[in-house]
Amino acid sequence: MPELPEVETTRLGLTPHLQGQRIRTAIVRNHRLRWPVPRKLPALVAGRRIEQLLRRSKYLLMDCGGAWLIFHLGMSGSLRVVPADTPPGDHDHVDLVLETGIALRLHDPRRFGAVLWEPGEPSRHKLLQGLAPEPLESAFTPKWLFDRTRGRKAPIKSLLMDNHLVCGVGNIYANESLFRAGIHPGRAAGRIGEPRYAKLVDAIRATLRAAIQAGGSSLRDFVHADGSPGYFQQQYLVYGRAGERCTRCEKTIKTVRIGQRSAFYCPGCQR
Ligand SMILES: [Zn+2]
Repeated sequence: MPELPEVETTRLGLTPHLQGQRIRTAIVRNHRLRWPVPRKLPALVAGRRIEQLLRRSKYLLMDCGGAWLIFHLGMSGSLRVVPADTPPGDHDHVDLVLETGIALRLHDPRRFGAVLWEPGEPSRHKLLQGLAPEPLESAFTPKWLFDRTRGRKAPIKSLLMDNHLVCGVGNIYANESLFRAGIHPGRAAGRIGEPRYAKLVDAIRATLRAAIQAGGSSLRDFVHADGSPGYFQQQYLVYGRAGERCTRCEKTIKTVRIGQRSAFYCPGCQR
């Protein structure tokens, strides 16, 4: 599933192809994504100039001159740039055709992705209201985590994956960040003190930055924005490594189910 680093890498990869370009039209081959693609999309986008690409949580936001296209990659979506006359494949549901003769093409086999239109500020869209701070921005602090978790019995790993505490941290990066911070994934969030949350904030940022640098990770069939073949798999510290040795203490990495998701941790390094 594309997580924050994959969306950020997509944004960085697409920007040089899209910024400043004018949209000729949109081609919608299948309207039935997670939410219906607007019927009037071709008319809404025609002639508009792409001013900038931004990201909020796992949403990619395309500034079309005051109105915005909102993309979400769902479980299996990817965006790439192709010559506009490239024949579409089975799951190529939406093209945004630019006047330069290229198309931004959404490929999404499982159709949990989204292409939405917001005529005003994207922060007003109902999907983007009430999102927690971005983990890489300054509003995300140890105090924010500490204050929001007092009295909470839920495991810290589950809360990290909840968009009300911090947005865009999914299963892989929650596991990796908790290892870096030395915090057991099952620990009750309310029983973690502020100094340990300071370590966790640093760990989340370091983990996400490393993943963005590596070009993202979790989607096997991801194709780079410029059309070149996919991401290489990252080396993880604990994720997917149950039964292997910890790189720090050589104890055996364990896995447990927490909130119906797999948690991986080192019993020597994480408490
Ligand atoms: Zn260890």
